[in-house]
Amino acid sequence: MSAIRKKSVSLVCPHCSRKIKWTWVIRYESLSFVRLVYLCGNCEQVIKTESEKNKFPSAFSSSSMLTQIV
Ligand SMILES: [Zn+2]
Repeated sequence: MSAIRKKSVSLVCPHCSRKIKWTWVIRYESLSFVRLVYLCGNCEQVIKTESEKNKFPSAFSSSSMLTQIV
């Protein structure tokens, strides 16, 4: 399962050096953990990734989603 949403931020993108006000957050969910990928709202390059334990596993999750990293 993956989902994309916007998130408000205030930081300077390391790729395009622009001050950005929001990022795309792509959420990849698997049975055991959730990976969040933050993309610059200007150049759409990856700013950072985060992993956390999946507190609410989805019945529709699949470990194959882990390979779909941007
Ligand atoms: Zn950028």
